[in-house]
Amino acid sequence: MQNKKKILILYTGGTIGMDYTIDGLKPVVGLFNSQIQALDILRDVDISINEYEHLIDSSEINISHWQKIIIDIANNYDSFDGFVIIHGTDTMAYTASILSFALRGLDKPVILTGSQLPLVHRRSDGWNNVIDAVVAASQDDLHEVAIAFNSKLLRGCRAQKVSTYRFFGFDSVDEEPLAEFGIQINWFTKRWFKANNFNLTPILPKDIKVLDLSLRPGFTTEFIAHTLNNTKLDAVVLQTYGSGNIPMHNTILIEAIRSAIARGVIIVNITQVIEGRVSGDYASSCLNGLGIISGCDMTIEATLAKLTILLSSDISREKIKKLISKNLVGELTE
Ligand code: ASP
Repeated sequence: MQNKKKILILYTGGTIGMDYTIDGLKPVVGLFNSQIQALDILRDVDISINEYEHLIDSSEINISHWQKIIIDIANNYDSFDGFVIIHGTDTMAYTASILSFALRGLDKPVILTGSQLPLVHRRSDGWNNVIDAVVAASQDDLHEVAIAFNSKLLRGCRAQKVSTYRFFGFDSVDEEPLAEFGIQINWFTKRWFKANNFNLTPILPKDIKVLDLSLRPGFTTEFIAHTLNNTKLDAVVLQTYGSGNIPMHNTILIEAIRSAIARGVIIVNITQVIEGRVSGDYASSCLNGLGIISGCDMTIEATLAKLTILLSSDISREKIKKLISKNLVGELTE
């Protein structure tokens, strides 16, 4: 008989373990743990649950939470076959992206999940999500961070929250799913990231000054120029129109971009359109002359995470600029 897989669940908070109170939904100590003891699947695997001392609504997430999750995975890495992170949906895609870049050399599954309705609700989607996450975390050949949600397994650094009220809460529009949980489970192993370094060397995120600025017609463009001229920043993610287009005739904006880059600020261009990528098709999207770097088809979550982790490592800024448009963990199509 095959040995049971050892899975560590890190329970950080989120709707799944909340209960209804007069102030609204709130995490309740011990509730998630007591609810999931009823799950049959837990008999097939050897589960340990680490319930965090301060359970949070994931809108509270910050760098110290990410550091704790990374340290907990690293400290328990050799003792477990896979990891499940129970997390609120609001910022799950940000955490999934941070972990994708921070867990360098990962060769085990790290699966995030949560739910739109708490387990205490009769129609909670949390049951299936937890089961699918545990099954995914038991896969030997999965060497990456993923989100299990609504019967799909999505690459962590490609996923985004797409609905506040449907069970279809997450999608990865520029990347097909890694698995689909139907009557049968379809594991799309050809799409799985091939780890090439099996030596976990995590990088802890530091307090990097990264800002995302989204172009909008009108006053916002002035605001962006003002912010670039007057804020001390390490990097900026510029969310541009269409295929990466910016108003090239707006001299105030262009000058602000030029001078920020001259001061060493890294500026990355991603499209604010949900599907698709930055391309060089238009005169106004050929931004290399300005020194803006193409983020290809990265999500905003992945771009912020990539900049945060690369700038937290000991890699030079020149090298970081080259790595932005390169595929490191499946986050972009070159
Ligand atoms: N506000 C909740 C959270 O992100 C939403 C959820 O978990 O679905 O913690």
